[in-house]
Amino acid sequence: MPFRCTPPPKDPVRTLAHAPWKLAVPAFQVSPRTWYVSGQSWVGAYLIDTGDGCILLDTAIPESLYLLVDAVQQTGHKMSDIKMILLSHAHFDHIGGAAALHEITGAPLYMSREDAKFLAECPGETLVLDADSHVQELTVDRFYDDDTPVCLGDIAIRTLLTPGHTIGCTSFFWQEKNPVTGETYNVAMHGGVGANTMNDKYYATSACLTPDLRDRFFADAPKVSAIPVDIALPSHPNQIEILDKAGTYTHQSQPYLDSTVWADFIKERVRQVRALME
Ligand SMILES: [Zn+2]
Repeated sequence: MPFRCTPPPKDPVRTLAHAPWKLAVPAFQVSPRTWYVSGQSWVGAYLIDTGDGCILLDTAIPESLYLLVDAVQQTGHKMSDIKMILLSHAHFDHIGGAAALHEITGAPLYMSREDAKFLAECPGETLVLDADSHVQELTVDRFYDDDTPVCLGDIAIRTLLTPGHTIGCTSFFWQEKNPVTGETYNVAMHGGVGANTMNDKYYATSACLTPDLRDRFFADAPKVSAIPVDIALPSHPNQIEILDKAGTYTHQSQPYLDSTVWADFIKERVRQVRALME
């Protein structure tokens, strides 16, 4: 599967707020232990079965929460299986469902210290970004420590601060074993790459984000893209097209296994941010 990005859905927040079923996507498996469970086609959320409960990566928005709950159940898991909720960055489209999901599951909410501060100091640039989404305030329970993986069952998720899109944007790296072939895959989800917050127009009105974040994004890109990743998962499914193969996963076929995708994806995102500087 060579790297390919596609346009996002049109008016996603408005559509999800008023007719979420129009963007509904049933749960689908992407790797031996992981399912796409946001329930919708705009923002991703992933459920990782650790063998001793599940980890949820990101929560999408409250308007599509029922689709996420339904998607988790479609995977054969229960909401009460979720023991940790890891948030990639403090934008409403990834954390909007967090407060409710914390209530439903009792699972602690994780975020970087940097983005928890961004969230507290700049609600207008994090939680309240779109009048159509009624995001609930949340309390961050635990911060990431990039030197100490987040562990549950036999999954250890290494976090990496990858600033740029936000101050504390965090990417996730872990390993999964194919139960049929015995192969081990490096799986990753980048925390956020949107050029919408990495341009001069945004910086001119932002109270919190500054152009040095873009410099840091460029400076870190070679290091981040050099990390070996066999299965690259996008935080928005159009950023690395994955919906086109939804439902085709088997342990034997591994439709998302391609160790070239991650580096090509980072390269493309750098290109997009640079294009806005010209
Ligand atoms: Zn974002």
